[in-house]
Amino acid sequence: MKDIVDKIIEDREINRVYDNTYFYKHGEKTETLSVSLVVKQKLPRENIIELKVLHIIRLNLFDMFEAETIPARQRKIVPLMEELEFRMQKAWKFEQDRNKHSWWFQVPHCTCPKIDNWEGCSFGRRIINSSCPVHGE
Ligand SMILES: [Zn+2]
Repeated sequence: MKDIVDKIIEDREINRVYDNTYFYKHGEKTETLSVSLVVKQKLPRENIIELKVLHIIRLNLFDMFEAETIPARQRKIVPLMEELEFRMQKAWKFEQDRNKHSWWFQVPHCTCPKIDNWEGCSFGRRIINSSCPVHGE
């Protein structure tokens, strides 16, 4: 973990900004941060670094969901995802509200409604598909 943190802190390519979005590479994947939101929230550099680390953890959690085919085991990853989203809200200087989380319904194998939950998380509402293997009954 320390190696990853050092690598991010050493990343000087903070100018890779296009269309108001900061792009950074993590392995094969490209992650983004909204520059206007960073400015609006007046995020200090430490919070930006923390967000980059949290997104790497998120990618790893998504890989864990992807690799796990047994729903009972997928469900054990859900609390980790929730804790991560609380930390992201804190790093973004948002209020910590689980009903405004936006990653939980994007995890692999989740069949909860996407568009409804995108709308729901902006004002604080979750819509669970009862037959979702990850979040359902
Ligand atoms: Zn779900």
